[in-house]
Amino acid sequence: MWFAQVAVDIPAQAIADPFTYAVAPEMAEGFGDAREDIERGLVGSTVLVGFSGRRAVGYVLSITDEVPQGLKSAKIRPIDQVLAAPAFDSVSASVIRWIADTYACPLSEAVHPFLAPGQSIKVRKSEASGAWELVEHAAGLRDVRWVELTPEADGFAPRANAGKQKEVIRALSQGSVRMSELSALLPGSARAVQALAKKGVVRVFQEREIRELSGTSLSSAVARRPAALTEGQKQALAAIDAAQRRGCGDVVLLDGVTGSGKTEVYLEAIEKTLAAGKGAIVLVPEISLTAQTVGRFRSRFGDRVAVLHSRLSEGERFDQWDLLRKGRAQVVVGARSALFAPVHDVGLIVIDEEHEASYKQDSAPRYHAREVAAEIARRRGAALVLGSATPSLESLMRCRQGSFGSVRWSRVSMPERPGTSVLPKVQIVDMAGEFGRGNRSIFSTPLRKALDEVVERRQKAVLLLNRRGFANFLMCRECGCVPECPHCATALTYHERTHSLMCHTCGRSWPIKAYPDSTTRCPNCGSRYLAQFGVGTQRVEDELRMILPPDVAIVRMDADTTKAKGAHEKLLEEFDSAETAVLVGTQMIAKGLDFPEVTLVGVINADTVLKLPDFRAAERTYDLLEQVAGRAGRGSDPGRVIIQTYWANHPAIQAVRTHDREPFVATELEARREAWYPPFSRLTNIIVWGKDLEAVKDCSQEVARSLGPVCASRGFEILGPADCVKSKVKDYYRRHILVKSGPEEQVGELIAPIVRSVRKPRGVSMAVDIDAYDLL
Ligand code: ADP
Ligand code: ZN
Ligand code: ZN
Repeated sequence: MWFAQVAVDIPAQAIADPFTYAVAPEMAEGFGDAREDIERGLVGSTVLVGFSGRRAVGYVLSITDEVPQGLKSAKIRPIDQVLAAPAFDSVSASVIRWIADTYACPLSEAVHPFLAPGQSIKVRKSEASGAWELVEHAAGLRDVRWVELTPEADGFAPRANAGKQKEVIRALSQGSVRMSELSALLPGSARAVQALAKKGVVRVFQEREIRELSGTSLSSAVARRPAALTEGQKQALAAIDAAQRRGCGDVVLLDGVTGSGKTEVYLEAIEKTLAAGKGAIVLVPEISLTAQTVGRFRSRFGDRVAVLHSRLSEGERFDQWDLLRKGRAQVVVGARSALFAPVHDVGLIVIDEEHEASYKQDSAPRYHAREVAAEIARRRGAALVLGSATPSLESLMRCRQGSFGSVRWSRVSMPERPGTSVLPKVQIVDMAGEFGRGNRSIFSTPLRKALDEVVERRQKAVLLLNRRGFANFLMCRECGCVPECPHCATALTYHERTHSLMCHTCGRSWPIKAYPDSTTRCPNCGSRYLAQFGVGTQRVEDELRMILPPDVAIVRMDADTTKAKGAHEKLLEEFDSAETAVLVGTQMIAKGLDFPEVTLVGVINADTVLKLPDFRAAERTYDLLEQVAGRAGRGSDPGRVIIQTYWANHPAIQAVRTHDREPFVATELEARREAWYPPFSRLTNIIVWGKDLEAVKDCSQEVARSLGPVCASRGFEILGPADCVKSKVKDYYRRHILVKSGPEEQVGELIAPIVRSVRKPRGVSMAVDIDAYDLL
């Protein structure tokens, strides 16, 4: 008799352990005789089971032929029915348990990312067969729009200035392509398709059934193989090869400046992996999943590449996922969740831009893709490659130590770009000095001059406004000082309503008198110019219009202007097609832009993130500035970067100026060590929220109190409860408790049961965020 361990999925119940069900002999026979056959046939499948008097959906995690302890075999209920074929294998099942334990989430929530895109947990009785079935996910049935060339296309030549149309025609020359994929690969192509359809050159049609990927690889972005690899690239490939040979999940950190040829290393490593008969997973941040990125992989590996990201419809995602499950595609390129795709026999996992905060999921399961990838690589004996121009301190430190747990971590450095392309010159402007010399404008004298030069030479500039709107703080305009909490060393936020400065880490607050008739002076220099800090992109745009000639295009990109679907691409096209232009934008412009005519990058205010009450503030500032600086001088004209700051001497800013990260990393690590922050500790954020402030306060207090004993016995540190920086969101009051522990402590297993056991008043919710990134 066989038994199955099943993760039962009941949304309102956080079920932490699997339940045992019997596999009826008829069901087992269907899979074969051997244990492996039954395992292969049943593990990972979705099943229907009875659960405390009701019907429930569950997922099979493992198989055993031993009667589980304490149970009588005759009393064990059988699995009623299999509802969906396996979505994951036994190794993934072990990763699922690891995720549930590590990130303190119910088992079924840890299963969800592994399921087929669009699979629901609702069942209904089939009218035809009378058996139960999963309510069909919309995926399989949704219409998919395709585009193809008509016979008319043969004699058609687009006008000289219709470059997009030309690209579309070239892309379609190999066969029909899904509309959504075309838009993803050639941003802004929808309009060109419309125009071409009007002329009868292309045809748009709907297809009900899901089609496969053949004939959809675009020729627009070609990854030409370089004549010779650089020394750094050879070293990187040797390290990856060694990691794959050892088969223990070793990690190689590819520490290479932007444009140093990291992607080329990924391509070569994937090629070798495929040649060895194995598969590969490549993760890129969602916003870097552009035409260029996907195109480079497709042009090298064609239909062996599946693509998974949120801009595809559910049906298309299912289609790509299924190609991998069937083994028809062996490589997946995708966003965070592609990590869970059913790639056969994974031999290589690549995470590009590994420092990106978006690799941490901010809803349950709150996993970090880097950590899960390391776990998958370890369990499958694959190699994990982490690429970045600004590696996370977590990864850098593990490489210094040489290992983390049983896994080896090594770093390969690629400090140069191949060929003649050079890194841009970076100039730092001290805004306190500008203020002292009487310049009250947003633009410093050097930035103003540089903008004029760009206009004169008919080139392009990018201006970054570093902005996180909600966190207000006071800053001294004469010396740049921002009042900090003496207990937490994080910036105090200013609360207008109560005229107080508040620490969102420990909850302390200080009353002040509001500027301008302030009796509160700068704690550093005594100045009275202590003012609320922050300007908007709109104001930058307005001031630019006043100082620049009217024929210069000014394109603004922020949350407001990019709300509409496709607006992002449209704005970039506008910037691209103008002769002389300035692009003003928030963080979203820092990545992926590759316009050769951009010769100037200006950062209006480098400091806002530096001052966020978040221990990663300096690291994030450095990452962002280094990224945005990389946008300048990608063409033949040399680029320059001007950074306006009140903190010219801050190590993060100096590191960008000198292109030397070491001193910054050293100071930053020292500060983290002293304050016991990651990577020297694990940080857990427990958030409590609800509409009734008193209930939220009581509950957060109760959580902190009940965690007291375990924290005291293990030497963990508890901070708070305190109001979150975002203390009220959509009428919900939010408070949080921070727990610091040793870096290798199993925090999830230790504190999750305690937090779960706290009685929540009606209307109050709680979340445990282990290895938290969002502390606001
Ligand atoms: P990264 O991913 O580090 O930003 P890429 O792999 O995109 O860098 O490489 C940047 C540019 O350099 C690309 O145009 C690429 O084709 C080119 N390149 C990469 N490796 C080499 C090489 N060994 N020789 C010449 N050019 C190269
Ligand atoms: Zn001051
Ligand atoms: Zn404090």
